[in-house]
Amino acid sequence: MEKLLELTSVSYSYHSLKGETLALSNINFTVHKGEFVAIVGPSGCGKTTLLSLLSGLLEPEHGSILLYGQKLFEKGNGTIGYMLQHDHLFEWRTIEENVLLGPEIQKRLTPRKREAVSDMLKTYGLYKFKDAKPSQLSGGMRQRAALIRTLALEPELLLLDEPFSALDYQTRLTVGDDIGSIIKKEKKTAVLVTHDLSEAVSLGERIIVLTKRPGTIQKIIPTVFPANLSPLERRNTPEFKDYFNQLWKEMSENE
Ligand code: ADP
Ligand code: MG
Repeated sequence: MEKLLELTSVSYSYHSLKGETLALSNINFTVHKGEFVAIVGPSGCGKTTLLSLLSGLLEPEHGSILLYGQKLFEKGNGTIGYMLQHDHLFEWRTIEENVLLGPEIQKRLTPRKREAVSDMLKTYGLYKFKDAKPSQLSGGMRQRAALIRTLALEPELLLLDEPFSALDYQTRLTVGDDIGSIIKKEKKTAVLVTHDLSEAVSLGERIIVLTKRPGTIQKIIPTVFPANLSPLERRNTPEFKDYFNQLWKEMSENE
């Protein structure tokens, strides 16, 4: 499979008046095109920092991050989409206006783009809400709209930073399933960071376990499930329990 992203000996420190905080140290991994990678680690271990590096917002202090073989920080982040804990939909825009925001800002809102985005709204059941305001939608539908807004920019790589953690437990399961299935259907490459082990097992094709700060790679666990199971269906398999226990053990050794 084609290498999309390659991290070699990446470290990052924050500098402030109080001194230096080493957030990440010696991170090495590769992400292949079409892969869904989940990254887990305790709170404060550097997960958000890692995504900021992958998005090109921060530059590694040491080491390199290559996107298709080119230095990411120099190449820019035009092909990277970001999805956060809060959907950041604007209440004063309709759902359709919200999902078209990216292309509009980039002055790339062509009729073809409008049509492609309408098609996505139809495919993912939001078309009948296209003229609604975000507050009229459920939390799950809002996250779906936020994903479509991100996909409207046709990103090569999707970065997801605990995107379901603001939702209640029940909703989190169905929305995780929903978003995971859409990303798979659209054949996107995704890196999800989460502190929720079951979320990582249900969505990840590979799970990277980070140690507590400074975050280093403790273990990389590839997951193998029967083909074509949705994230929710994965939760009902014996494999799910095994991977969950393995992750739990890794995280406990991490304490
Ligand atoms: P996580 O997302 O895993 O909870 P973060 O990447 O947000 O962790 O943070 C990693 C570490 O870096 C934490 O100890 C945090 O306090 C520190 N940190 C994060 N952002 C800054 C900043 N802007 N300045 C100084 N320290 C920071
Ligand atoms: Mg974080």
